[in-house]
Amino acid sequence: TEACLKAIDAADALNAFVHKTPEMAIERAKAADLRIKAGEAPSMCGLPVGIKDLFCTKGVPSQAASGILEGFKPEYESTVSQKLADAGSVMLGKLNMDEFAMGSSNETSVYGNAVSPWRRDGDTAELTPGGSSGGSASAVAADLCLAATGTDTGGSIRQPAAFTGTVGIKPTYGRCSRWGIVAFASSLDQAGPMTKSVRDAAIMLEAMCGHDPKDSTSAELAVPDFEAMLTGDIKGKKIGIPKEYRMDGMPGGIEKLWADGAEMLKAAGAEIVDISLPHTKYALPAYYVIAPAEASSNLARYDGVRYGQRAALEAGDGITEMYEKTRAEGFGHEVQRRVMVGTYVLSAGFYDAYYNRARRVRTLIKKDFEDAFAAGVDAILTPATPSAAFGLGEMTDADPVQMYLNDVFTVTVNLAGLPGIAVPAGLDSQGLPLGLQLIGKPWEEGDLLNTAYALE
Ligand code: GLN
Repeated sequence: TEACLKAIDAADALNAFVHKTPEMAIERAKAADLRIKAGEAPSMCGLPVGIKDLFCTKGVPSQAASGILEGFKPEYESTVSQKLADAGSVMLGKLNMDEFAMGSSNETSVYGNAVSPWRRDGDTAELTPGGSSGGSASAVAADLCLAATGTDTGGSIRQPAAFTGTVGIKPTYGRCSRWGIVAFASSLDQAGPMTKSVRDAAIMLEAMCGHDPKDSTSAELAVPDFEAMLTGDIKGKKIGIPKEYRMDGMPGGIEKLWADGAEMLKAAGAEIVDISLPHTKYALPAYYVIAPAEASSNLARYDGVRYGQRAALEAGDGITEMYEKTRAEGFGHEVQRRVMVGTYVLSAGFYDAYYNRARRVRTLIKKDFEDAFAAGVDAILTPATPSAAFGLGEMTDADPVQMYLNDVFTVTVNLAGLPGIAVPAGLDSQGLPLGLQLIGKPWEEGDLLNTAYALE
C-alpha cells in the first residue's frame, strides 16, 4: 500500500486518481495485516485497489467526474465497493473517468483527462487511456494499484483495457449489483474488474459480484469460484468469428491480431467457425438512442436541490431559473448533449420513431447472439476496438459521432446483456497495445475467463 501511495504521488501527471485516501488506506492495510497474521485472510486481503469515481464511497467524494456533484460525499457505500472492502482490499482513492461515464477518452471529466502511461514509439505525444474508465486503466497500466473497478455501459471497461494493455471484463447484466453506482443508462450499466491479468480478473470478479436485494435487477445466482475454472483447457470449444465485425478501413494490424488470436485458440484445441450476427450495424445507432434516453431520465435528479451544487441565483429567480442555471453550470457539454438527445427521443412525437424502434433493434441484436449460441458457439472472438489509443485532443468536440464510432465492437454486448472481456493481444506497428474481445453466454463468466486465459 505504501509503495502504491508513493507511486500515485509520483504519477500526478497521469491524473488517474482524483481523490486520494492515504490515511484510510494505511488504516485498512494495517487491519488487513492483522487478519493475515490471524490466519483469516479473505481473497483480496491487503491488495491495494482504486475505485472509479462513479461508485459511491462513504464519506469520500464521489462526483462521477461531474461539476454538478461537487462536494458530494455519500452517506453510504456502493455494494460492489463494500464487497471489495469485505474481501480485504485496500482502497487507495477514487479514479478519473468521463463525466457520468459518457465518453471514450476520459476527456469529458471535470478534472481534466487522465493520461495513458503508453506513448507511440519515438513520440512524446500524450495518448488517451480510453474511457470512460480511463483513470482505472491508466492507474492499473502504470502500476499505481494492483487492480481497479470500472463500469461498462457501452464499452467503458473493455475499450480502456484494450488501449492500455490491461484486462477488463464486463459481466452479464445483473451479475454485479448496481446499488450505489451513479446511474448512466440503467438497463446497460454493469460494474467489473480492470486488472493486469485474467487470473486477477477472476479473483476480483468473484469478490465483487453476487445477489443484492437492494438492486432488483441483480441475479439470484450463486457465485462460482472463477479462479478454479482457469484450467486453460478449451479443447472442443467452438469459437465464432462474426463476419459483420470485419469493417472497411480497419487497420491491418487489427485484422492480423484477430487472425492470430483465432490461431492461438485453435492451437489450444478450439474449433473456429465463421458466424453471422446480421443486426450488428444497427447496434451503434440503437445504443446512442437508448443510452441517452435512459440518461436523460436518470440525470433529472441533479436539480440543485438534492445533491451537490446549486448555481448562484439572482433576486427574482424562481425554481425554473434555479434548475436551468444549476444544470447549465454543473453539466459539461457531452452530458448536456445526451440529455437533449434523450429528451428528444422520448418526447411524445418521436417516441415511436426513435426510442421504440431502438428497443426493437435491441431485441434483434440479442436474438443474433442467442441464435449463434443455440447453433453451438461457446464464445465469440472480435477486436475490442477499431484502432489503438488515439492522441488526447485528436477527436474534437465538433464531431461527437467520430468518438461514438469507437464503441462499434463493444455496445452490442451491453445491448444483449452478455459478458464480454478484453484481453491484451499484442502491439501495433507504433508499439501501442491492442486488445481482443471475447463475448460469452449469459452467466458463463467462468468459461469466458478460461477462454481468455488461453489467449493471454
Ligand atoms: N463510450 C460510450 C458512451 O460514451 C460508453 C460509455 C460507457 O460504457 N460508460 O456512451
